[in-house]
Amino acid sequence: MSDGAEYGSGVKKYIEEAKKNLEQKKKQIERVKKLKFDTIAVHGLYTVEEALEQNQGAVIEPVYLAAAQAYRDSDEMEAALAYLIPTWCYTRFANPTTYYLEWVLALLEGYKTGCETSCLVTASGMSAIMLAVDSFLVKQKDGPEKINFVSSIQIYGGTYQHFSIRKMQERGIEVRWVTHPEDLEEWKAKIDEDTRFLYAEAPSNPQQAFCDVRALADLAHSWEIPFLIDSTCATPALMRPIEYGADIVIHSLTKSITSGGLAIGGALISRNPIVTKIKNDNPLFKESFAGYVKFLPFRDIGPAASPINAMFALNDLRTLRSKMDLVSQNCQKVADFLSHHPKVYQVDFLGIPQFPYHRLAKQYMKLVDSEGENGTEVNRYGHLMSFRVEGPPANARRVFDRLQIIYRAGDMGRIKSIATIPAISTHLQQGEEARQLADIPPQMIRLCVGAEHPDDLIADLDQALNI
Ligand SMILES: *Cc1c(COP(=O)(O)O)cnc(C)c1O
Repeated sequence: MSDGAEYGSGVKKYIEEAKKNLEQKKKQIERVKKLKFDTIAVHGLYTVEEALEQNQGAVIEPVYLAAAQAYRDSDEMEAALAYLIPTWCYTRFANPTTYYLEWVLALLEGYKTGCETSCLVTASGMSAIMLAVDSFLVKQKDGPEKINFVSSIQIYGGTYQHFSIRKMQERGIEVRWVTHPEDLEEWKAKIDEDTRFLYAEAPSNPQQAFCDVRALADLAHSWEIPFLIDSTCATPALMRPIEYGADIVIHSLTKSITSGGLAIGGALISRNPIVTKIKNDNPLFKESFAGYVKFLPFRDIGPAASPINAMFALNDLRTLRSKMDLVSQNCQKVADFLSHHPKVYQVDFLGIPQFPYHRLAKQYMKLVDSEGENGTEVNRYGHLMSFRVEGPPANARRVFDRLQIIYRAGDMGRIKSIATIPAISTHLQQGEEARQLADIPPQMIRLCVGAEHPDDLIADLDQALNI
């Protein structure tokens, strides 16, 4: 961004004023960074002073629904629209309510990592994924004709479709699938000079696959490319991949972060700077990737979140840590019950020691700020699990249809327990072959455990399994 030297004195006055405000903001961010996770989640950057001086004393952050901001004069307008001063010019790319949410997420993902972070909130998780990956899939001057990226195949169904259809089929960008994301050798074998980034999901939805986050970040960096990770299922309460070297973290805010289930949203959080060999004239690309995406591609493409949705997410996020603790413990109890049930032949849950990904998850998934006297944090594995019902697929459907408290929906991350059969819902479109590769048989019921009393959930499952 220019320092505005070529502008008139009126514009410069606004730049000076903005500089002072930014200095204040910076100091405030440094103060907030010293607070605990829960305090940041509850307050973010919204302060008593801001409430009293600017918002009629409102205890809760106001929802600004106005699509645009008005300016004091032409100088302020020019300074704002030339990006010389921070501005709420237009809600498609800058809105005060969305901004509160962006800062809470940036600070929570960066919590105790010692890294600078920035965040962009988008209309949905899918748009966050698209914006994150597309910025690395641009044609470079004198670059190769054929480019690729390497991704775990154990990813959300929508992401799989996006990569295989929108990227590979429609744009001819090669997606090199890694079938065993825990196997570093498989990743290594698929990378070459034309690989633009590595992409993984941990834990993955619905298989709960996991990867060695630190090793993958190191591997990516040894090729001077970024490591992108979707950690929707973990949330920053259970894992902060930036701590282990990840460059960009993606969330579907629609899930556990907005557990109340009233809003769709996505977020992209970057460590500043990221590792990349992509040449971009704008220094923000490397220095603050989320900021770059926000002010350029995001502005031009347009998947902005509604400020109301940002508010729902912000409100649910305040108690994220204690909620993830509770639902993880509930899920553990339900999974332990199902593991011993004669009608269930397999339970997939990261919290079960026999589960293949348990060891890796144990290394990475820990409840933030839960250090006991010995200084180690408590493991918590989230609230997503799945179980497989004995016999033909019709049996799984019967059990599913008999659930009474647990909802049947292609949804998850809720405060209410929800079950689905991935093969006929979330993973229907990708076809039998891809489902087999990803180990999603029709006997599998995905269950995301909510905050109900676990005894009631166990009773519901027990009666449903009594077929
Ligand atoms: C749901 C989900 C997405 C997509 O998010 P939307 O908000 O539905 O667009 C991406 N990744 C994971 C892991 C998800 O569960």
